[in-house]
Amino acid sequence: ALGLTGATVYSIYELRHPEEQYEPDPTKKTLVILGTGWGSVSLLKKLDTENYNVVVVSPRNYFLFTPLLPSCTTGLIEHRSIMEPIRNILRQKKATVKFYEAEATKIDYEKRVVCISDDSEIKGDISHTEVPFDMLVIGVGAENATFGIQGVREHSCFLKEVTDAQNIRKRIMDCVETAMFKDQTEDEVKRLLHMVVVGGGPTGVEFAGELQDFFNDDLKKWIPEIKDNFHVTLVEALPNVLPMFSKQLIDYTESTFKEEEITIRTKTMVKKVTDKYIEAEITNPDGSKSLETIPYGLLVWATGNAVRPVVRDLMSQLPAQKDSRRGLAVNEYLVVNGTENVWAVGDCAITNYAPTAQVAGQEGAFLARLFNTVAKTDAIEKELQTLSNEQALAKTDEDRNRVFDEIRERQKQLRRTKQIGPFQYSHQGSLAYIGKERAVADISWLSGNIASGGTLTYLFWRSAYLSMCFSSRNRVLVAVDWIKARLFGRDVSR
Ligand code: NAD
Repeated sequence: ALGLTGATVYSIYELRHPEEQYEPDPTKKTLVILGTGWGSVSLLKKLDTENYNVVVVSPRNYFLFTPLLPSCTTGLIEHRSIMEPIRNILRQKKATVKFYEAEATKIDYEKRVVCISDDSEIKGDISHTEVPFDMLVIGVGAENATFGIQGVREHSCFLKEVTDAQNIRKRIMDCVETAMFKDQTEDEVKRLLHMVVVGGGPTGVEFAGELQDFFNDDLKKWIPEIKDNFHVTLVEALPNVLPMFSKQLIDYTESTFKEEEITIRTKTMVKKVTDKYIEAEITNPDGSKSLETIPYGLLVWATGNAVRPVVRDLMSQLPAQKDSRRGLAVNEYLVVNGTENVWAVGDCAITNYAPTAQVAGQEGAFLARLFNTVAKTDAIEKELQTLSNEQALAKTDEDRNRVFDEIRERQKQLRRTKQIGPFQYSHQGSLAYIGKERAVADISWLSGNIASGGTLTYLFWRSAYLSMCFSSRNRVLVAVDWIKARLFGRDVSR
């Protein structure tokens, strides 16, 4: 048994770290991939890297399983459990892939180079260099939309990166401990314990649900003094939250929040943020507008996506992008309009679909299929060329017929491989956790909505996320975190 375990462990090790990888071949095209998010990583996973010289550039040397990021803000899941090192992914490929931990600061389309800069803590300065490309895939995602609202960047927390979740986790405990400090006024305690979330999309809703769970499951048990003042408010400019879900699921979410005692403030648009309060414009039932000041201790800003500067700069270089506002306009093969051999995937590309992880993942997989096919087609075309030379030199009828048969076979293969249609998104459904062990889901393959609470939906939500989790390693880590929280509660240290 020991030997068997040893062999299994060794084979897993072997799988993760193949000794031999093909070295880059300078005669092949250089394919540069920007980003290590859903789009780029799903492309990398399916790409036959031996066909190109692949170079990946990203400021993050890991893939982040974003659907579980809200759970990291309360310590239900530790952030490292949802991170997958990019080196693990690259080391599994047949051919070596170069990785540079750096930010792409400019894409020079004319010169066909990407300018990159590495802000190294060790060196203490910034290194700049250029990476030339024959083919480029832009999967840099988006940044947080603030709509230029005063004070947002300075005073609120976002929820996009690991550091954002860590900041929120610290800030929650800072608010609680400061509220418990000696001789605080009642108003100050109320303010500090008021947790405001702006944006009623899935990010805001999931975070509000997780935070209320944290309060109900752990905070109020360890620190009962905060019980009467801890309060979560979700602020949304539109008349309802989760606009992408059906009316039934919206109603279910709203009534669950009511039970959980999360306040939803719809038709409330935040106009200004200071260090202690937000100013919001409220549309009253009679249509009139009024201004209100809402004090907060923690402010989480989740109002969707905005275009990154590097993408905006590329758009300004391309006349074909002049009417595009929200990101790179692409054709049905995800080629950036106005370019050759430049593609975009995920939140930086504008397609007919919502900017979700599911869409980005499918776009990346589509490009992998496309690039693998193009490489295969090129190889077959080269073989055809050699065969037709052979045919011309063939001396006997027998030889000529043999080569002719081979040519016909290759031509058939070529027709088959060339049949790659445009990108089509297949929607598997949307899922959002809303707290209190409840989730809302619209599952397209069941052609219906699941809006139920209780153990079943909760288990469904958990198993769906577990099965989507990136690697077996991540699955195990996340499952262990869940068990730990069940047994011991969440860690309330700062
Ligand atoms: P979103 O764009 O879906 O929602 C942002 C919300 O903020 C909007 O409803 C908007 O009306 C509101 N808003 C904007 N400015 C405001 C202001 N000044 N005051 C008050 N409200 C304001 O953003 P998101 O939730 O971050 O999601 C981004 C994308 O990621 C979406 O496509 C979403 O579907 C996807 N996503 C999906 C899931 C999931 O499926 N579980 C989870 C997270 C994100």
